[in-house]
Amino acid sequence: MDMCNLAGGKVDGDEVSDLTKTYPIVEIFNSVQGEGIHAGKSSIFIRFGGCNLRCEWCDTEFDEWQEMSVLDILSEVMQWQTKRIIFTGGEPALQNLWPLSTCLRRRGYHIAIESNGTIELDKGLVDWVCISPKDQLYPNVSIKQRTGDELKVVYCGQELSMYDDLRIGFKHLLLQPCYMESESVEWNGRNAAHTEALVKENPEWRLSLQTHKWMGVD
Ligand code: SF4
Repeated sequence: MDMCNLAGGKVDGDEVSDLTKTYPIVEIFNSVQGEGIHAGKSSIFIRFGGCNLRCEWCDTEFDEWQEMSVLDILSEVMQWQTKRIIFTGGEPALQNLWPLSTCLRRRGYHIAIESNGTIELDKGLVDWVCISPKDQLYPNVSIKQRTGDELKVVYCGQELSMYDDLRIGFKHLLLQPCYMESESVEWNGRNAAHTEALVKENPEWRLSLQTHKWMGVD
C-alpha cells in the first residue's frame, strides 16, 4: 500500500501497522471545549465507541460507531486548524491508543484524554489526563488511574470527602453540577446552586460548567 497517496500522508517514523490500525469511532468534530480547565479552547473531539459503565445521566451516544483507520482519522482532523485533540467517548481507554497517539503527536498535535478512570493509562500515552470518576454511582468500581492533570467530579449530592485520597494525585480539581434530563428544572437548579456553594466552602475545587450546552454546540 502506498501510504503517501492516502489522505493524511505518511511521515518519517510512521509504521504502516500504526497507520492501518482501526478504531471504533462514533464521531470526530471540531468545537470549543465547553468544560474543565481548558474551557473555551478550540479542540478536536475524537469520540470512541463503547463504554464499560452505564451512567444514568449519560447523554453520549456511544453504541453505534464505524471502524476508522489511523489514516482515516488523520485525514479528518487535518482539515481543521487546531492542534488540540481530545480522546473521549464512551471510554477511550478501552482501546490501545498508542498507534493513534503516536501518529498524531508526530504531526504536532497535543493529545488530551477524558476517561472514567477505571482503566489505568500507560505513562506518556497522552499530554493531558482528565479523569471524571463515576464511583458516586458505582461504589464497587475502583478507580485505577489515580494521577493526572484534571480531576473532574460530576456533582449530584455525594460527599466531597470521598475524593480525599484520589484528589492527591491531580493538579486541578473541578466540580461540575450534574445535569439530569430526567430531573426537574428545580432539581437541576438546586444542584447547580449546591455545587457553587460547595466550591465556596472548598476553594481548592473550581467550578466547571458545561458551557457548550448553553451555546447549543456539541
Ligand atoms: S462513563 Fe461517561 S461515557 Fe460511560 S456511561 Fe458514564 S457518562 Fe457515559
